Amino acid sequence: MNFIEQIIEEDIQNRKNDAKVYTRFPPEPNGYLHIGHAKSICLNFGIAQKYGGKTNLRFDDTNPVKEDTEYVDSIKEDIKWLGFQWAEEHYASDYFDQLYQWAEQLICDGLAYVDDQTQEEISKGRGVPTAPGVESPYRNRSVEENLDLFRRMKAGEFPDGSRVLRAKIDMASPNMHFRDPIMYRILHADHHRTGSKWCIYPMYDFAHGQSDSIEGITHSICTLEFEVHRPLYDWFCEALKIHHPQQIEFARLNLNYTIMSKRKLLQLVKEHYVNGWDDPRMPTICGLRRRGYTPAAVRNFAETVGVAKRDNIIDVSLLEFCAREDLNKTAIRTMAVLDPVKLVIDNYPEDQVEMMDAVNNPEDETAGTRKVPFAKELWIERADFRENADKKFYRLSIDREVRLKYAYIIKCTHIVKDQNGDVTEIHCTYDPMTKSGMPDSNRKVKATIHWVPVKHAKAAEVRLFDRLFNVPAPDDCEEGKTFLDNLNPNSLEIKQAWLEEGLTYEKAVAIKHFQFERIGYFYCDPDSSTEKLVFNKTVSLKQ
Ligand code: ATP
Ligand code: MG
Repeated sequence: MNFIEQIIEEDIQNRKNDAKVYTRFPPEPNGYLHIGHAKSICLNFGIAQKYGGKTNLRFDDTNPVKEDTEYVDSIKEDIKWLGFQWAEEHYASDYFDQLYQWAEQLICDGLAYVDDQTQEEISKGRGVPTAPGVESPYRNRSVEENLDLFRRMKAGEFPDGSRVLRAKIDMASPNMHFRDPIMYRILHADHHRTGSKWCIYPMYDFAHGQSDSIEGITHSICTLEFEVHRPLYDWFCEALKIHHPQQIEFARLNLNYTIMSKRKLLQLVKEHYVNGWDDPRMPTICGLRRRGYTPAAVRNFAETVGVAKRDNIIDVSLLEFCAREDLNKTAIRTMAVLDPVKLVIDNYPEDQVEMMDAVNNPEDETAGTRKVPFAKELWIERADFRENADKKFYRLSIDREVRLKYAYIIKCTHIVKDQNGDVTEIHCTYDPMTKSGMPDSNRKVKATIHWVPVKHAKAAEVRLFDRLFNVPAPDDCEEGKTFLDNLNPNSLEIKQAWLEEGLTYEKAVAIKHFQFERIGYFYCDPDSSTEKLVFNKTVSLKQ
């Protein structure tokens, strides 16, 4: 049980909020969700599920400039893909009228004032935490004057940045967020939902807690950077005398070799360092999906990293481990050769084709078997042959034996090279007694390799990915450099591969997740067509 669950179980015991548990996931629709958000989603929805409660989806859309319906749609798709369904869908912008009334209420209670100072003057007046700030000359305006000015702010009489509404709290507080925080600013900008209705917009601190309150949220779970905002969250709920949810902070998820700021992810997309938000190298949920991650893998990852009270950095290999673990149970096996060299079985009849039995998933009997054609000429991986092999190399070399998966034991006899000295053909003989069901079928050799028959091979494009950044902390850079300087220039490699001919477009699209035997897990990319199959490597078989 994590510390948040402990708090909740105590609340349930004390019958706080009638023992109800109501959480929310509150994204700002200014970008696509990433693996950090997935952690927050799993936490919020998971807790509500565990205690028989509900979770709302609320778009925190108080900043019209950066927000867009494209993001709203993608966020909904990603949450559903992860396997969660929200109870209610809300928008902070739906509460603009209510928030405005509450602002007037605070003005009337002498708890808010219109400040005519510039942004610079306001921050200068706030001062530093170690010494009290300076009160604004406009702090003691009358209620009438404040109401009049605030109404005229709303009516659009003043230009952007000329005035703000501030809460009148404590300019000497050691918590800087208490030094008369800004509640409203003037912004003549169209909002993706409210259009041109508003030209003043509430700040996060004046919108978030109240939105939680309106929805009857009981536990408002957020990341640690909001800990310093909590007194203000509490202050507004108390001052307005409204339902007071409990804010609980946990450490945000950080992954090494990964950037998780939406602003920076947007930059990668806009400046074409990647091919869109769903580029399989991106840490976005849609990127992970296109890479071939499954919802179960992402959920298991979120569960495994747990909930921490202090910031920490998780190794990205844990995410890969979770993908492997899930795909091993479910992915359909197939043979694919990514770096082909030709193998010729000299004693195999020229035009013979045998149909071999292959297992679809050794971890799942119900996945059944399939027939794969076997013939005289095969593609095998170049790396499975070595001319000068030492004792530790167990695969193919001259005069050595290996088993061809689902077929015979072969022995290499000689090789053919081109002018450059590159091997173009590997010749071997096969032992007919070693096929499954034959007397020597159990004869042991040190290695088994995969293959695809040359005359029964299907061409496909395979996209291999490496880490997008080549340092563990891409944000830590020397003077004058940015995270972009830490991009790995070789994070994408495209190969032409040979697949089993039975892997049709229809099959690839229906099954989606495959294990290319001995190589890794692969996902059928949406770029695939009946003309050309495209596969993304999700993760290798072993670390
Ligand atoms: P930005 O990158 O623009 O600062 P953000 O990542 O905070 O934004 P929001 O849309 O405000 O994005 O986040 C929605 C919710 O997801 C918030 O409750 C936030 O605390 C949570 N969240 C965001 N990033 C992480 C993370 N890395 N780990 C855990 N939770 C996160
Ligand atoms: Mg945020």
